[in-house]
Amino acid sequence: MSIASVFRYNAEKTTIRVSMNFIETRGNDGKHPKSVTFSEAILSPIASFGGLYVPETLPALGIDFLEKHRKSHYKALARDFLHVFNIDIAQEVIDEALALYDAFDDPGNPVPVVKVYDDLYVSELYHGPTRAFKDMALQPFGKVLSAIAQERNENYLILAATSGDTGPAALETFKNQQNVKVACLYPEKGTSDVQRLQMVTEDAENLKVIGIKGNFDDAQNALKTLLASERFKATLNAKHISLSAANSVNFGRIIFQIIYHIHSYLELVRAEVIAMGEKVYLNIPSGNFGNILGAFYAMQMGLPVEKLVVSSNENNILTRLIHTGVYDLRESRLIATTSPAMDILKSSNVERVLYSLLGAERTRELMHDLDTKQVYRLNVNELARLQEIFAADYCSDAEGKAYIKTTFEETGYLMDPHTATCLKAYETSKEKPLVMIVYSTAEWTKFSPTIANALTGETDTRDIDALHAISKEANVTIPPMIEALFNKKAVHTTVVEKENIEEAILSFL
Ligand SMILES: *Cc1c(COP(=O)(O)O)cnc(C)c1O
Repeated sequence: MSIASVFRYNAEKTTIRVSMNFIETRGNDGKHPKSVTFSEAILSPIASFGGLYVPETLPALGIDFLEKHRKSHYKALARDFLHVFNIDIAQEVIDEALALYDAFDDPGNPVPVVKVYDDLYVSELYHGPTRAFKDMALQPFGKVLSAIAQERNENYLILAATSGDTGPAALETFKNQQNVKVACLYPEKGTSDVQRLQMVTEDAENLKVIGIKGNFDDAQNALKTLLASERFKATLNAKHISLSAANSVNFGRIIFQIIYHIHSYLELVRAEVIAMGEKVYLNIPSGNFGNILGAFYAMQMGLPVEKLVVSSNENNILTRLIHTGVYDLRESRLIATTSPAMDILKSSNVERVLYSLLGAERTRELMHDLDTKQVYRLNVNELARLQEIFAADYCSDAEGKAYIKTTFEETGYLMDPHTATCLKAYETSKEKPLVMIVYSTAEWTKFSPTIANALTGETDTRDIDALHAISKEANVTIPPMIEALFNKKAVHTTVVEKENIEEAILSFL
């Protein structure tokens, strides 16, 4: 692997800039540019043949980089990482974006890594404003996107469809940002009370939150239809607005999701749990595969990782892929679980791993099979390559609840139902006696009814009662931004039928 140093002449700026090129997972169709900058990849994330953008080369970090940052603060690590990655974003903008981590619970360390057992540590990604891991990427991403829009003197409408965590994080990052408006669609009855309140109380002129009479798929489908609608785009263009999406395939989010994997490793070195260079397992509760893709890139760049462990709930299509090499949507039906952010069948970022391992031609073939036959099959060699890197297991809701309870009783560690799915693979996937890092993607406050039920057996459906029950049972305090939600005024009251979404968005604009 080599350090990418692509010199491109930027006529507008009359300066020579060095920046990373992005190319396409399904090859080039002759209509899209053959390669684009980071800015271009994040403004128009859909590539040729419906593919995704990926960096042309991954910079090699190696032990030298890790040694250099043995004692670095998160932001210093992130700053240097982004420098090595060579994205075409001004340093002032990057610094402003990274400064947002100062508002996390501990400005000295936005991502604490906590011991649970001697060989199990939890990297907590939820200490940002909306209490889920989406803040890790969306906080800086919002700043970067708004800065690009301002620099180009363009206006963007960002569409977001959410099952509960992306919506609050997107609203929080874009509120009051220049040149950006956000329309956020959520299933009216499909989120927790806390998640809904985080959205409907978010008061800013550039935000619109719309409840949909339907489920998350309806919200997601409405979003896809609008993104593909030429008529909708023309209506927006007449108002000098371009359309974009803040979904989890956007590389502007992925890039920030590589950094905390390196940080978590260094935290264990600093705590003398591992020696520099020693391998670890990284175990990640996965849905759209964005979090674990960041870990995959970190590993490719030289982070000492034994294996990446994909944890899932009963929607176990990723487990089946890693075990059998077959990605099969034909027999799969989406099951509603207590870890809803992982309720997924089409896991979009897997495509980027396929590209890295198998190249563009084969990726295009496999994705074509998935689109047309609802299934693709890796051959024996391809599966072996996948299994060199990934292990996987899935966890039922009942098992997850039992892990929440027993882990709390044995160690005092309280975790959310997404994080709990990782405890299953912790038991089944370790072939070597190495330390494992599990990633915690949400605070207990976001899924409190499930956790209260796991701890005490009670069946509250209201979050406010469950929050107090857990607070008492586990002797933890409810964070102020969660407590405050229940006294805030709901400013977004629009709830519409699926057919009327476009109209609701246009009347907001
Ligand atoms: C989004 C989310 C996930 C899934 O992350 P992916 O990057 O989509 O794999 C897991 N847990 C929680 C709480 C989330 O919000």
